[in-house]
Amino acid sequence: MRKKLIAANWKMHKTPGEAVAFVREFTALIPRHDRDEIAIVPPFISLSATLEAVRGSQIAVGAQNMYWQKEGAFTGEISAAMLVAIGCQKVIVGHCERRQYFGESDVDVNRKLRSALQDGLKAIVCIGESLQERESGLTERVLSRQLATILCQISSSDVNNFCIAYEPVWAIGTGKTATPEMAAEAHAFIRNEVAKALGDGAAPRLRILYGGSVKPENATALMSNEEIDGALVGSASLDPKSFATIVEW
Ligand code: PEP
Repeated sequence: MRKKLIAANWKMHKTPGEAVAFVREFTALIPRHDRDEIAIVPPFISLSATLEAVRGSQIAVGAQNMYWQKEGAFTGEISAAMLVAIGCQKVIVGHCERRQYFGESDVDVNRKLRSALQDGLKAIVCIGESLQERESGLTERVLSRQLATILCQISSSDVNNFCIAYEPVWAIGTGKTATPEMAAEAHAFIRNEVAKALGDGAAPRLRILYGGSVKPENATALMSNEEIDGALVGSASLDPKSFATIVEW
């Protein structure tokens, strides 16, 4: 049985003060939650305040990005080792906004994933097709191509330390959600590809999250599907009540 992970991707929202206020209100709303794993992923500048605010709770904290080099002349970048040094446990890699606005490729994502794993960060690796690709019947081809590169030099024992977030690009920040059946079909395909790359023993252990306009109204239908091992939540995670309702699906 895979424990579900529900992660709040705050993107470029919330100052340290706003992050602390969120955590106070949110933790009061879910005092005894231990069914699923919960993570908050604030912008870099709010990581320390969030880490401090969640201390003693069941909430993990992650970063939204990282660079694959350990240190050096890479102005503006932050390494996995630096994130670990402040107590960060997770990192998102390959989010479609990083790919779209900052030109990140699957090769970059693979480098980041390997560096995260090497330094002890648990990664949430995002993949997904565009609307045009879905409408052209290319969803499986795109997922397969992304995974082939991203899983290069990743071993079967790593599956406990990363998860895949299936995020159809057309569903992110658009209000359009994949139906649980659409998500489940993509997840089953992804698991099959992972089995081919990392072995039949590893694939059943990998968590595959869904992301794309998850909100209180659709969380139960999505999360009760056994192919869906959790959610990466953007807009609806910015409000403590809304995120608490999703977590308590
Ligand atoms: C995301 O950014 O990962 C995301 C899923 O955003 P939203 O929930 O707003 O679609």
